[in-house]
Amino acid sequence: MKGRPDKSLFSLAVDRRSLLSAALGTCAMTPLAALSMQLATNRSGSLTKEQRDSMNPAQVIDELKKGNERFRSSAAGQYPAAVVLGCIDSRVPAEIIFDAGIGDVFIGRVAGNVVNDDMLGSMEFACAVAGAKLVLVLGHTACGAVKGAIDDVEMGNLTGLLARIKPAVSATKFEGEKLSKNAAYVDAVARTNVVLGTENIRRRSPILEALEKKGSIKITGAMYDLANGVVEFIG
Ligand SMILES: [Zn+2]
Repeated sequence: MKGRPDKSLFSLAVDRRSLLSAALGTCAMTPLAALSMQLATNRSGSLTKEQRDSMNPAQVIDELKKGNERFRSSAAGQYPAAVVLGCIDSRVPAEIIFDAGIGDVFIGRVAGNVVNDDMLGSMEFACAVAGAKLVLVLGHTACGAVKGAIDDVEMGNLTGLLARIKPAVSATKFEGEKLSKNAAYVDAVARTNVVLGTENIRRRSPILEALEKKGSIKITGAMYDLANGVVEFIG
């Protein structure tokens, strides 16, 4: 078992530096080592055509074995840097949109990324016990839960969940049609919902509020745009 995976999101910058210095001093590098370096360096994107074309089948198996070794070693401990409160929307998997690896981030997901007691408890664990440094409320465009809150949908337990989004509906200042079929309005409410979410966390968790005041953590929000994949940090 090794330490952390050398390709994880938060160690990538360091890896790139060490890989670069390794590359500068190595004329006698084996083709496989060079390939491995190429792959690690290219972690934040997909394989390029050149990289793929330079591999033979045995090298592909070798890379898969190395990847599995990194995967297994990551189960030894966890030092996640952030806790993300996101929506259950199947198109917004936080690990994937941030290109984060196993062990990098805590993720809590609930429709409409609403703050509730269990999420607050999870965030307190993430920061006060496990040492995460960032609480991120992650909303997204075209959110079905937000549309439901705008439409006053009532159905079973969903009614109570949507009630947690309604303060964002009333608080959103918007010029134009305030209907769920108006995408711009839905996104404006989702954005307000994120901002209110961060305020809720501070108000309802003295533990997290104190950690933030001390400078140990930051509580902030972001909006993910389904159309182009961009995450915009908003506060
Ligand atoms: Zn959603």
